[in-house]
Amino acid sequence: MKLSKLAKELKPSATLVITAKAKEMKAAGIDVIGFGAGEPDFDTPENIKTYAKRFIDNGFTKYTAAGGIIELKESIINRIKEDYNLTYNTKEIFIGSGAKHVLYNLFQALINKNDEVLIPAPYWVSYPEQVRIAGGVPIILKTNQENNFKINKKMLENSLTEKTKILVLNYPSNPTGSTYDRNELNEIASFVEKNNLIVISDEIYDKILYDGHKHICFPELNENIKDRTILVNGVSKTYSMTGWRIGYAAGNSDVLSAMSNLSGQSTSNPTSISQKAAIEAFSGSQDEVPKMVKEFQSRRNYICDELNKTYGIKCMVPNGAFYVFPDISSFFGKKFKDKIISNSTDFTNFLLDEAKVAVVPGVEFGSDNNIRISYATSMVDIKEGIQRIQDIINHYWG
Ligand SMILES: *Cc1c(COP(=O)(O)O)cnc(C)c1O
Repeated sequence: MKLSKLAKELKPSATLVITAKAKEMKAAGIDVIGFGAGEPDFDTPENIKTYAKRFIDNGFTKYTAAGGIIELKESIINRIKEDYNLTYNTKEIFIGSGAKHVLYNLFQALINKNDEVLIPAPYWVSYPEQVRIAGGVPIILKTNQENNFKINKKMLENSLTEKTKILVLNYPSNPTGSTYDRNELNEIASFVEKNNLIVISDEIYDKILYDGHKHICFPELNENIKDRTILVNGVSKTYSMTGWRIGYAAGNSDVLSAMSNLSGQSTSNPTSISQKAAIEAFSGSQDEVPKMVKEFQSRRNYICDELNKTYGIKCMVPNGAFYVFPDISSFFGKKFKDKIISNSTDFTNFLLDEAKVAVVPGVEFGSDNNIRISYATSMVDIKEGIQRIQDIINHYWG
């Protein structure tokens, strides 16, 4: 059958591809250490699961409003109020089937053909694809490790045209773990206000921060910024609930009601039981979150120490999320067996074939000098995986 032009141009999600390849190798009996995962390895907290089961038993199993139930919207409003002292009403909250779906509807609701969307790189893999699906043009702002993978006013100014409509922010960042302080955000905010842009701020890692860093929610900066920002978050990362599929947007009610209409004509509501579970996640005990963050922090410390001791690898110590994004470009041009490493994909295949360690090539995030290593996996696996990387590098070049 003849596919549409859109379907032909679509890229499969890179992180899902590498995770699948590692799973296949495992199924074939090969002992692979997987550093590809984009989800916490912890189980969903007990109180959330228990709460959700009740609603299976009492029959909360029918369609709900397409953009989510009021009770969940209220628990999100209270959580944002408590965390950031920001006030939203229920018309300013949209609930979708995960933050990915929320972002998809958001780009569909905002983008006209050829509108330009500024996306800092390294970026989360789905932003450029979702912008393209909506008919927009992703404009990539390249950052580097020397400036901790952060954008600044000058870079923004250099990328601005009369077609620029949206700036996408994601901090703490997937894949770099980098985050912004208030001064840096204010600089970005003044550019946004001056040029009348809309900001999509994906803050899904807001609770996963280390060394006492405090997250600043973008709409917190001032009232004008709050009015032109759509905040995106969800339960996947903070509460280890990736499979439940609940994400939300907070912001302009016209945009959000368009997003609800889109859901009404495509997915309908996010799963009824998952919406109930999310109420407990946002309103119930928050005690599990700092425990998880503490565990992530010790893994991060270990990985960064070890990688920076490894020949040829330079690794920034990230402030948040659960990834490191080391620079491996010093291996470009090096040979092993009859092969030569020329880019991050070659290096990733080298690690998978020679060391049985799965990582994600940086090129998928718009940065070919790096690889992404997720530490959302056990300390035992982390130690074994890092050891294998060190051993194989030493074997060939150490
Ligand atoms: C995981 C992730 C998402 C999507 O999360 P879901 O709510 O599970 O769809 C969105 N943005 C970033 C940056 C992520 O890492």
